[in-house]
Amino acid sequence: MPIATVNPTTGRTLLSFDALDAAGIERCLALAARTAATYRRTSFAERSALLVRAADLLEAEAEDVARTMTVEMGKPLAAARAEAAKCVKAMRWYADRAESLLADEHPADADVRDAGASAVRVRYRPLGVVLAVMPWNFPLWQVVRFAAPALMAGNVGLLKHSSNVPQTALYLGDLFQRAGFPQGCFQTLLIGSGPVEGILRDPRVAAATLTGSEPAGRAVASVAGDEVKKTVLELGGSDPYIVMPSADVARAAKTAVTARVQNNGQSCIAAKRFIVHTDVYEEFARLFTDGMRALTVGDPMEESTDVGPLATESGRADVEELVDDAVRHGATVLCGGRRPPGRPEGWFYEPTVLADVTPRMRVDLEETFGPVATLYRVDSLDEAVERANRTPFGLSSNVWTREDSDLERFVAELEAGGIFVNGMTASHPALPFGGVKRSGYGRELSGHGIREFCNITTVWEA
Ligand code: NAP
Repeated sequence: MPIATVNPTTGRTLLSFDALDAAGIERCLALAARTAATYRRTSFAERSALLVRAADLLEAEAEDVARTMTVEMGKPLAAARAEAAKCVKAMRWYADRAESLLADEHPADADVRDAGASAVRVRYRPLGVVLAVMPWNFPLWQVVRFAAPALMAGNVGLLKHSSNVPQTALYLGDLFQRAGFPQGCFQTLLIGSGPVEGILRDPRVAAATLTGSEPAGRAVASVAGDEVKKTVLELGGSDPYIVMPSADVARAAKTAVTARVQNNGQSCIAAKRFIVHTDVYEEFARLFTDGMRALTVGDPMEESTDVGPLATESGRADVEELVDDAVRHGATVLCGGRRPPGRPEGWFYEPTVLADVTPRMRVDLEETFGPVATLYRVDSLDEAVERANRTPFGLSSNVWTREDSDLERFVAELEAGGIFVNGMTASHPALPFGGVKRSGYGRELSGHGIREFCNITTVWEA
């Protein structure tokens, strides 16, 4: 994939970049390693001041950055602005809290009396250089949710961003530099996926985090496993959205529309499979389909647009293939199922609802990374749980019920890293984020996230 800004609204290439060559990569690695050796000695107060400055800069520049994101990957401008604001919030959150999240731990005397020590403590120390392989869908947020805790923990970062968001990637490297972080603390490498293996095998790189697809995650984790290096993987999702008879069906249907089409349907934590109890199925299906049909598809720079284009031509082709396959095998298209007429340019696809989905259809098990929902009718809570868990993924989940007993069953049995009740999944700096099964492992955000790239060190004193 060339490293270029290609506007998905028009399909036109706006700006192309040369990839960093081997000598350039070596210079970045050497600088990162040198900086890691000294940056780890900085205090929390120093790091915090730098991160707050980065947050202030981003806040002041949010409008420009938002426009860049919208041009590069097509998300509606309002969503791009919200993404920039969320990054500012996360930076300030970690700047305020990292010191207490990583404070030394002192095991209770009673627990360690027989360890033969006069004193013991646990210290969270940085690992060093961490490689971050990141996706285009939240091009600012995915990077910041790694960078803010990593930098506060005393690590340094190397960013390999998606090839289709080079301007956002360059902005990020520049942002941390202008905020005053020592040179080499956070560098953007303009590279394709080819050089990732060599960088990860380099002894100067301690660990890697990847947010992206399952194949990319598998490739990076295999190399890291071979090198015995720590990884965090945030991969795909096909989140269930369960609606039970006691739910507020009108609210559930309204929220379902947003949950499915946020970010033009290209979110790992978007609700993708709508599993509805038969008692409320007809009502939910009608309201949800009406809501999806009413969305405005168009230029993401227009304030009135709900759904912009898909980010890449191949991404749209993937969605089309999944829908066509489902229709061939008997799915019913309740709305959408095609490119919007009258939009010859750009990679648009209509918000789509598919019913009568069966296991013969690829869409039943694969992730749909576009504005396409699948509807399932179930007769019981048992069937809802079984259907929800019948996926290789386990990122998040949504349940709509007002019955405590239903809720406890879902909390006990849904195979996912998150369970959002009577609402839609969203990430927050204070809450751990991540998945199980093929959605990956490890956690980002919260105290769990900042400790992922730490050497959890036992200090024992005789
Ligand atoms: P992708 O194709 O996997 O790309 C993600 C990143 O991995 C890009 O930087 C890409 O570089 C790189 N990459 C791809 N193949 C690689 C390989 N073999 N070795 C090393 N690096 C490789 O995913 P995407 O299309 O950008 O993003 C969509 C996927 O990400 C979806 O599955 C979505 O659910 C998932 N996602 C997950 C989360 C989460 O938090 N769990 C969040 C957002 C997205 P190039 O661009 O140069 O190919």
